[in-house]
Amino acid sequence: MLQNFHIGLIDSNPFTFTLSAVFLFTLFAAIIVKAFHKNVQIIEMKRIKLVVFIAVSIGTAVWHQASLSVVKAEEANARAKINLIETMINKSIEAQIKALSRIKARVNNESFDDFKRLLDIDQKTYTNGYNIIKGVLVLDSELNFVSGNTFSRHFYLNGMLEKPIIKAWLTRDLDDIQFAANSLTLNSAAPTLMLLATVELATKNKYYILNLLDINLLLDKDYLHYLSQYDTYLELTKSIYFSVDHNNENKTNLSELINSYNHFITQKINVMDLVEHEVYSFINDYDSIHTDTIIDQSILWLTFIFIFIFVQVADSSRVIQFRAKHDELTGLLKLTALEDEFIKVTSEKHFNNFSTVILKVDLFEAIYISLGYKICDELINNVSLRIRESTNNIALIARGASDSFVLYFFDISPESLEQKIKSLIVELTEAHIIDDNEINLSVSAGAATYRHLDSFNLRLNLQQANVALEKAKELGGNQFHFYQQSMEDKYNETVTIRNDLQNALKNDVLEVFYQPVHCLNDSTITGVEALVRWSNGNEWVSPAKFIPIAETTGQITQVGEQVLKKVIEDIKKYPQLQNMTVAVNFSTKQIIKDDFASNLLSLLTENNIILENFTVEVTESYFQERGVIVSKLIELVNYGLNVAIDDFGTGYSSLSYLTHQPANIIKLDREFTIGAHLLKTKEQKLLDTIIRFCYDLDKSVIVEGVEGEGLIKHLSKFEGIKVQGYFFSKPLPIHSLIDYIENNKIKD
Ligand code: C2E
Ligand code: CA
Ligand code: CA
Repeated sequence: MLQNFHIGLIDSNPFTFTLSAVFLFTLFAAIIVKAFHKNVQIIEMKRIKLVVFIAVSIGTAVWHQASLSVVKAEEANARAKINLIETMINKSIEAQIKALSRIKARVNNESFDDFKRLLDIDQKTYTNGYNIIKGVLVLDSELNFVSGNTFSRHFYLNGMLEKPIIKAWLTRDLDDIQFAANSLTLNSAAPTLMLLATVELATKNKYYILNLLDINLLLDKDYLHYLSQYDTYLELTKSIYFSVDHNNENKTNLSELINSYNHFITQKINVMDLVEHEVYSFINDYDSIHTDTIIDQSILWLTFIFIFIFVQVADSSRVIQFRAKHDELTGLLKLTALEDEFIKVTSEKHFNNFSTVILKVDLFEAIYISLGYKICDELINNVSLRIRESTNNIALIARGASDSFVLYFFDISPESLEQKIKSLIVELTEAHIIDDNEINLSVSAGAATYRHLDSFNLRLNLQQANVALEKAKELGGNQFHFYQQSMEDKYNETVTIRNDLQNALKNDVLEVFYQPVHCLNDSTITGVEALVRWSNGNEWVSPAKFIPIAETTGQITQVGEQVLKKVIEDIKKYPQLQNMTVAVNFSTKQIIKDDFASNLLSLLTENNIILENFTVEVTESYFQERGVIVSKLIELVNYGLNVAIDDFGTGYSSLSYLTHQPANIIKLDREFTIGAHLLKTKEQKLLDTIIRFCYDLDKSVIVEGVEGEGLIKHLSKFEGIKVQGYFFSKPLPIHSLIDYIENNKIKD
């Protein structure tokens, strides 16, 4: 019977207030977390938001459920009270009916005198024995007063039985004990319940025995006291609401009653299976229940929030701790954390010796330039995973600078280390598939082994392993090398060159020499090749030595820029250079850059240099770069520049490659021509074949490093063949070159 059950909470809702407080609190908490942990990144903020969202959803559900259950519990208690009232009323009435039945049985069929005598006794004992009985009233069949105590007499004399409906009830002459509330008394201080027994004496005269009970005492109010938070009213009639809890607080108006409380339930009770009464039970202090709920809920929420913040803070400090030690991309240790880890590992377990290995991706820079950082990041991650998979349990792994990895192995023999690293290198060369790109790479590794743990010195270990790595790279990469002392000297030299070159670049002391290129048919100078020269103060450093170093350090870009600048100055200054081709060497590391062609072009046009008189010389390089390089060269040729493939016949060159080559000039390397002039037929044939092949492809040929007359003679049969070498001239400083050109003219 829930007719009047409101979830009265939602409308006048203090919960909303608390809820907003909680939201504010959460926001505040998030700000604090963010402020104290600056490193908490957006990703984590997203996670925090998700957790907050989940927390709020769960919390709201729990909250709603809890409020509902509080109200439900209250409702259940109120109902329990009503049920208790019902039982009490029925018990009391039942007891009284039994008592009256006994009296009736005793006096029935007696003589009038006995009837009166017995009744006097009973009346006395009953009215004394039961508080609830106010009086016993005996009436004759005409409803005249026969006997009764003071209460009964007043009751009678005050006309409490005068209503026709009451009279009719009295004279129904039923065998059973009847009961009825006396409507005239209901609104008085003593609402009266009447129990009626009809007796017939031996004389056949009828008498009515009326027990008058105080309704207030039907219920054991002391017992009900523990349920006093509910004000309960029994609807005796539509205009009398009997207060179960308090005497003299009966109400006459239901709507007034309902309006004065926030929440109530109503239920019918059944009195002796004869009458039904509506009972209204009001939660008399609804507000305090409400407040209790809010407090409970707030505590729940605050606990929730505190746990949440605690977890977050703990989590982010854990994340921060992890980050401090680990590389963000690969999750491997950082180099800076390696020392601590080494100490930790060696203190946990006893080891005798260790080895340091550095692994580095060959030509990573070229991969980086052609594929971009995103794919390269993936690639590095991929590589790190493969390294991890094959060495995780036996080595400490850290990520070095960009494409290098540092591994510390313990108690491993040089032989098994070599085997391990070599098979790792093989694993790493297997194709890496990233975003549909199949990337093939090779890896070089250097290792230094130490006999005692005392030799641990991160800087020194890395330096020595690095020297071995440099050696592996020098030998062409894709291999493994152990550190030896002799390597160190080489390494030191490299480091010195790198540092000195840095100064040279800063002070702009690089120079450019030019080597003339002659056409063999008429000995004219058709062009010159610009070659960089660098004196480190004491001696000339060969470009063959410092250019490769500059390529690995990235200094090559600056070298190239300075050379090009000087060449352009010279061309502008000396008209002799303006009607011949001037060739400049460029590293693939320069050419591969996106803006190479456009920069070169604008520089040349700004300085009014005829594009057809300018040659870009480039040495073929590893296959990974080829595709990109070729497309750059096509771009240059399309603009009308000359492109020369340098050093053809060494390293990576091949005939089939020539056919796809946009270059219009092929420079045959000295290596290739050595011996040819000695009239060794095999070499001669090969040389001739290559030259014809180039001619067939419409490319002009420059033979490099020509020193002897024999070769000159041999070559002169080729129409338009050009040569360059000591036979004619060494590379010359610009003044000497100009003299050389002038003298050559005079000779003509
Ligand atoms: P390269 O481009 O093949 O240059 C020709 C080299 O052969 C020059 O060495 C030159 O001095 C040398 N040479 C010329 N004729 C003869 C000869 O008859 N016999 C012998 N044995 N050698 C001869 P250099 O100047 O030491 O340059 C070495 C390499 O350094 C060059 O080889 C080139 O690859 C590179 N290089 C030089 N200057 C530059 C530059 O400005 N930029 C770049 N990226 N590389 C440069
Ligand atoms: Ca060259
Ligand atoms: Ca060359």
